[in-house]
Amino acid sequence: MPELPEVEALAEFLRGRTVGRVVARVDVAAISVLKTYDPSPTSLAGLTVTGVHRFGKFLDLDVDGLHLIVHLARAGWLHWREQLPSAPVGPGRGPLALRVHLDDGSGFDLTEQGTQKKLAVYVVRDPQEVPGIARLGPDPLAPEFTVEVLSAILDEHARTQLKGLLREQSVIAGVGNAYSDEILHVARMSPFKLAGTLDANERAALHVAIKSTVEDAVTRSMGLAAANLKGEKKTGMRVHGRTGLPCPVCGDTVREVSFADSSLQYCATCQTGGKPLADRRMSKLLR
Ligand SMILES: [Zn+2]
Repeated sequence: MPELPEVEALAEFLRGRTVGRVVARVDVAAISVLKTYDPSPTSLAGLTVTGVHRFGKFLDLDVDGLHLIVHLARAGWLHWREQLPSAPVGPGRGPLALRVHLDDGSGFDLTEQGTQKKLAVYVVRDPQEVPGIARLGPDPLAPEFTVEVLSAILDEHARTQLKGLLREQSVIAGVGNAYSDEILHVARMSPFKLAGTLDANERAALHVAIKSTVEDAVTRSMGLAAANLKGEKKTGMRVHGRTGLPCPVCGDTVREVSFADSSLQYCATCQTGGKPLADRRMSKLLR
């Protein structure tokens, strides 16, 4: 799933290609991805793209005051095409959900590869009309995200484990399963550590880890074509998705804890004093 750095790079990529262009047509191939009906996607036709922004993991195309907002979720993606086929797309069973044609023949496809259709598209007059945007917490790239702001968050959610807290969009915007693993590895903290137990030094370290991890990933992603962002996300990881491989810091084997619909990865030597975390699924299998 694309997180803050990938969506930030996508926004940058699109900004350079769409701002100043007129939307020629919007084809909806999968009506289920549309979460709003007024204004309709077709009302974007004839209007000029004036900006591209990011809110958390949401991508926002400002089309002369109307906003086409996209949440790619787990299996959605954006494919830029220098030359789009002009034939209209009808409702289909393929991955194509929505196609945006610009006035020079270029444009992009939004696709959904998942069996659970989570890709979400909104057309609104104000981004704050999207419930997921209205409830976003502070953005880690914003100057307002200070150590004091983080510290207040940790106190407010004192009984929450760090892993879950970092992923919660209403607490911190844009960090998901992958970058929360990375942040905790950089901060050398257990994913299960309770937010309220961090002392002042640990709070400062976690703040630095959040900002540096996200900023480094944005730097690596910037300038990449949309098609190359997923690969870059994967190769930049220290522990996430690297179960069984050596930790790049200490060489210990990266371990995993599995849950019903996700898993986390961590290094025991770097993060949990050398003690492997209990994995309920594994212990069940071993019993
Ligand atoms: Zn390590």
